[in-house]
Amino acid sequence: MLDCQDRTAATITQLRQSLLQWYCIHGRSLPWRQTQDPYPIWVSEIMLQQTQVKTVIPYYERWVAQFPTITGLANADQQQVLKAWQGLGYYARARNLHRAAQQIVQQHNGKFPVELATVLTLPGIGRTTAGGILSAAFNQPVPILDGNVKRVLARLDGVTTPPNKVLTTLWKTSEHLLDPDSPRDFNQALMDLGATVCTPKNPACLLCPWNSHCRAYRMNMQNELPVSETRAPIPHKQIGVAVIWNQQGQILIDRRRQDGLLGGLWEFPGGKIEPGETVEACIRREILEELGIAIEVGEHLITIEHTYTHFHVTLNVHHCRHVNGEPQPIECDEVRWVNLHELEQFPFPKANVRIIEALQK
Ligand code: SF4
Repeated sequence: MLDCQDRTAATITQLRQSLLQWYCIHGRSLPWRQTQDPYPIWVSEIMLQQTQVKTVIPYYERWVAQFPTITGLANADQQQVLKAWQGLGYYARARNLHRAAQQIVQQHNGKFPVELATVLTLPGIGRTTAGGILSAAFNQPVPILDGNVKRVLARLDGVTTPPNKVLTTLWKTSEHLLDPDSPRDFNQALMDLGATVCTPKNPACLLCPWNSHCRAYRMNMQNELPVSETRAPIPHKQIGVAVIWNQQGQILIDRRRQDGLLGGLWEFPGGKIEPGETVEACIRREILEELGIAIEVGEHLITIEHTYTHFHVTLNVHHCRHVNGEPQPIECDEVRWVNLHELEQFPFPKANVRIIEALQK
């Protein structure tokens, strides 16, 4: 593997110049590139962490209209914040944005910090996000290493080890290549190259400004690199879910604890089916354990398959009837009886939104 220190100064200059020239013509025009205000740039960086640009754009536009300043976001209720994020997934990002905004108001007078070390103390901001924000907002020479950049650099240097095993080297390469005179444009160009030319499948090497320096291209290995890590198959959980109706025709929902997966979001109650247990028995047991009430499990409503990062779930959803007991938030933060038409006011995870759609039909 090429060590980034091995490149001559002339090669580095060529790489910088060719990339910046390419970016001048082919760079993407994105809403968050029309500003140098760190707040909207930060919002876009967080939204883009796990989500594609075309999905992010409408969320980004609604977000900056609803929470136009850091102080406005800090003062918003968490439920509003989660509702605005609904559908984007990875909700820890929204909770961290909210907490970080409150931290900026309390500790930095509402102004986004300009020092890398301070930015890294904000919840939800790691090294590459900090680099993305500081270079885009303040033109600071801070490198980035998101998924796209890892792929481009691994191919450029013909890295035959999975990128996550050689992060120190890839960070050094990103830092070494970064143009100190144009860090904003350089980092954005690198991201665009990864997103539009050096794509995961069938990279368009003939159109690439770096093809004369690229080891993967020279070795015709652009489709084999980067090497992917062998991953263990993800576990599959069968879940029993209850849509519990009371005599007034209301439905019981609960708000998940703050500290776990999907924290702060609302859901239809339920839990994991134990080995040998039927869906109906699981639902009755879970509802008694989690909410302290007795229910009667009725007809099947819908089955939903959903994949999270580390596991896959099958939600087996049944209509249920409340029999007795006052619902208690034993394993959640809050429970509420709501009417069907009120469900849309609450932030729900994606899989639960499909339950609401089934109910509305
Ligand atoms: S030449 Fe091909 S593989 Fe190499 S950086 Fe360019 S697009 Fe990626």
